[in-house]
Amino acid sequence: MLQRASARHAATSSRQLSIAVSLRACPAGMARSAQSLGPRMTMTKTLQPRSPAMRRCFSSSAPLLSTPHEVPLSAIRNISAWGHIDAGKTTLTERLLYHTGGQASAPDSVHSAANSALPGDVDSGSTVTDYLEQERERGITIQSAAVGPLWWKSQSSKDNPSAAITLVDTPGHIDFTIEVERALRVADGCIVVMDSVEGVEAQTEGNWKIGSRYGIKSNVLFLNKLDRPGASIARCLRSFVQRGLHARPLLLQLPILPSGSGGTEIDGGIAGVIDLLTKEELRFEGRAGEQVVRTPSSSPEIGPARHSLIESLASLDEVLMEELFSIESDDPHQSISAQSLRQSIRRLTIAGKIVPTLLGSAAKHVGVQPVLDAVVDYLPSPGEAGDVRDELGMGKGTVHGTSERAREVGRGGSRKPKVQGKATPPSKEASEKKESAAAASDGPRLTGEDDAVAAAEDANRVSINVQDPTLSCLAFKVVWDKRRGPMTFVRVYSGTLSRTTTLFNTSTGTRERLSRLLLPFGSTYTEVEKLGGGQVGVLLGLKDTRTGDTLVDARPAGGKAATMDPTLRLRPVDVPPPVFSVSVDAHSKSDEEAVNEALAMLVRTDPSLRLDSGSGDDAGGGSAFGAAGTNQTILSGMGELHLDIAKDRLKNEFGVKARIGGVRVAFRETVDEQLRGVNAEPHVVEDVLERDMGGKRVKAGARVTVQALAENEEGDPAYGDNIVEVRLGGEEGQKGNIESRSEAKSRTARGNKGDPASGVSNLNAEQRQARREGSKGATPAGSDETGTVGIDADSLRRSVLSGVTACLSRGPLASQPLTKLHIRVTDVQTFGPEQSPPRAVGAIIQSLVRRAVREAGARIAEPVMRVRIETEEGHMGRVVSDVTTDQGGDIVEVEHEGAAQEGTERRPVDVYLPPESQGEGGEAEGAIPGARQKTTIVALVPLTKLVSYSSRLRALTAGTGTFTMRLEGFRKVSDERQKQILEELGRV
Ligand code: GDP
Ligand code: MG
Repeated sequence: MLQRASARHAATSSRQLSIAVSLRACPAGMARSAQSLGPRMTMTKTLQPRSPAMRRCFSSSAPLLSTPHEVPLSAIRNISAWGHIDAGKTTLTERLLYHTGGQASAPDSVHSAANSALPGDVDSGSTVTDYLEQERERGITIQSAAVGPLWWKSQSSKDNPSAAITLVDTPGHIDFTIEVERALRVADGCIVVMDSVEGVEAQTEGNWKIGSRYGIKSNVLFLNKLDRPGASIARCLRSFVQRGLHARPLLLQLPILPSGSGGTEIDGGIAGVIDLLTKEELRFEGRAGEQVVRTPSSSPEIGPARHSLIESLASLDEVLMEELFSIESDDPHQSISAQSLRQSIRRLTIAGKIVPTLLGSAAKHVGVQPVLDAVVDYLPSPGEAGDVRDELGMGKGTVHGTSERAREVGRGGSRKPKVQGKATPPSKEASEKKESAAAASDGPRLTGEDDAVAAAEDANRVSINVQDPTLSCLAFKVVWDKRRGPMTFVRVYSGTLSRTTTLFNTSTGTRERLSRLLLPFGSTYTEVEKLGGGQVGVLLGLKDTRTGDTLVDARPAGGKAATMDPTLRLRPVDVPPPVFSVSVDAHSKSDEEAVNEALAMLVRTDPSLRLDSGSGDDAGGGSAFGAAGTNQTILSGMGELHLDIAKDRLKNEFGVKARIGGVRVAFRETVDEQLRGVNAEPHVVEDVLERDMGGKRVKAGARVTVQALAENEEGDPAYGDNIVEVRLGGEEGQKGNIESRSEAKSRTARGNKGDPASGVSNLNAEQRQARREGSKGATPAGSDETGTVGIDADSLRRSVLSGVTACLSRGPLASQPLTKLHIRVTDVQTFGPEQSPPRAVGAIIQSLVRRAVREAGARIAEPVMRVRIETEEGHMGRVVSDVTTDQGGDIVEVEHEGAAQEGTERRPVDVYLPPESQGEGGEAEGAIPGARQKTTIVALVPLTKLVSYSSRLRALTAGTGTFTMRLEGFRKVSDERQKQILEELGRV
């Protein structure tokens, strides 16, 4: 397998175990009533629903629970655990579930009673979170599963109500990046899991970047697998700092070595942890480490480690600094309370200034409960996380929760609910937004006085107070369930979602009714009546909602006009572009419908899959998989494994009969202006087309300008990295513009070139002018665009845009998606509703854009990957020469593990690192006794050359080399290569 670079596949064969595990969740109400009886013990018992009475709670006829809705906002934690593949995320998640009382419990017939009480195990396929069959079989997490709420009382706050934690487990495999994207989109904080033998790995870095992109500032680092030989705390922390993830990973614990281990890292292991705040030793006893035994520690290492921790905290936190000053003692560091330190760590973690670091071994049940404590003690509630994102300026299209400060303001004044102005809506709705924002001033929008000024300053930006009564939710995942149909995972950003709410999907513009409201628990769900602000739940019964859609209340609440702005768009989930594809054909004519339905559902549940009709002709309808031309449908995805899983799902989950072709690389089409000569101007096509459609003569026209984006110019991911600009009229500043997000940027990048009117046109200037003037007078009020008489401007805009996007998905050369283009459609001409129905306009615009792209110099672009190859030093030479000569790649950099020591241009490591005697071998990085030197080669290589690269690499490195890759971008190919590709695609 091309991308299975990790050692994981080696273990796959031993995991060909597929047990149908039935999972039981704890109804939240039960868990909560159990709280008064003491936290964990009772819950663990409660959660083994063995008696018939208990089982009834899990059937759909059980009384509905509304308890989670009553959880105070400050007690909610929406978190995600992530790391590189095999770091132990799933194992840790299962342990967290176990200790909060929600572990997988296999049916009696499969597991013995003794076994079923233990946490799920990835190696035997009994986990709660890896619940798809393919995941269990392959031992990897594919679909991130949200689980929660898990109830937990932190050791530090026994008097507080239990926190309600919702955990989203994410996969580490690069093919499933979309799962990470959507999990991190809705998480407020993260547990970063690191394999302490490996240190920072490719996906640790990759996911960290995704988290930052979504504005996640609060992370807790868990150094896992400290039981393994070669594990090193110091090396992990150093790589964390030097690879630029964060400058302040602060150790809150020290490891306890097993007695008689001799203290060398090779056979080190970990018997427990020392809590630097309380100066206690924590050992984890019982079969699954469920009893935490705390005893005062006398380790001499506590002194320097704790002192260093306090110094780091105080240097960043004035409150703690003042507290230290106010302590009347010779040694304030010694006397400061654990509680003061916790509060300081919380402040700094929520502000993103430190990353509290914990130690353990998930597999050996060491250090798991402190992770739960840290989630409660240090990670933000939905209200606190919102503030964080605002500060980062990640507000584009995002609706945030509101900060504690803002809520203080709200409480202090009147009880007026408020919608504040902060986030920008996604650009494709930009124009609609502007209009609605203007309309909203006399509409049902509620604005707090203190925010009114800010809101007015930027009419495009809205921010939602998590305590606002009007409903807004983001759908962040859709899962197909054989029994229940599509299940839509949502996070509520404000208001209350109840079972009876009628929803309005602002992204698709449709109403949605839900049939049931559930709390997610792996593959088992608990029915509830309501979800409040900040909570995560699952909706059944939604028909059209996809990942990234925004849902609001379709009806004014309580008869009052308190409905959320119907054009509100929360920041959607970013979807990475697919680079591999397969052909899909129905087995026979009679299977066609079922196959098409299954494919549509597959794509709805996984937006990183993409569906295209194989036909390249102007179909007119603009549908992504319209039936014109051939029957062949192309399914594209992130990698071979991704498509393999999709294939499995079509067969096993949807039970349809389809022939799937071999996996091949997906290309793009763009424009090479050089083909029209040096310094070619943007290409313009201006024309009116007539055609027969549905037995009628239809007619429309427009002016289309096409230009390739500059090298460093960014397109809008929502439009396949193109910039799309639609103006019904001819001049800027008119109403009704649709621009993609980067338009403003592109205007500045290009300067003001003026109107490139020199292109192809069969209208003369006089005709154009006459058209403008003639139509202006006759245009209905509120629509001053040219030629739109009698046609609703909104639907016209939509059909123009759908014509453009239809063309974007199928380029003129080989029906590959277009990329890196700036497409402007202006001066749209219509000839009354009879001659220019919206559908016809869309189809004609599609033809015009297509013609413009072809004439502008269409060119195939191929995916180029950034490849990270890890190998032992001795094999480096061979790998490098193979990459540069046979694979046509360019080397970007070569890193030697020991090189960090030289450290001159590296980031300085200014955090406490425990000495080697503490049981890890990393103090002298690169000098691990017995370990071989690792070399990392980073190169840019065309994806076509990487098919089957893993076996090639194995051969070159005696089986020791591994690699990961991610898409760097698409590169225009040479004439010769283009011919070759078009031949391969059957286009010449
Ligand atoms: P994920 O890919 O991050 O979800 O990792 P998994 O939880 O699936 O774990 C990958 C492998 O590492 C499995 O074989 C686990 O049993 C193993 N593993 C997880 N945690 C530990 C640990 O603390 N120590 C050791 N020695 N192995 C672990
Ligand atoms: Mg996993």
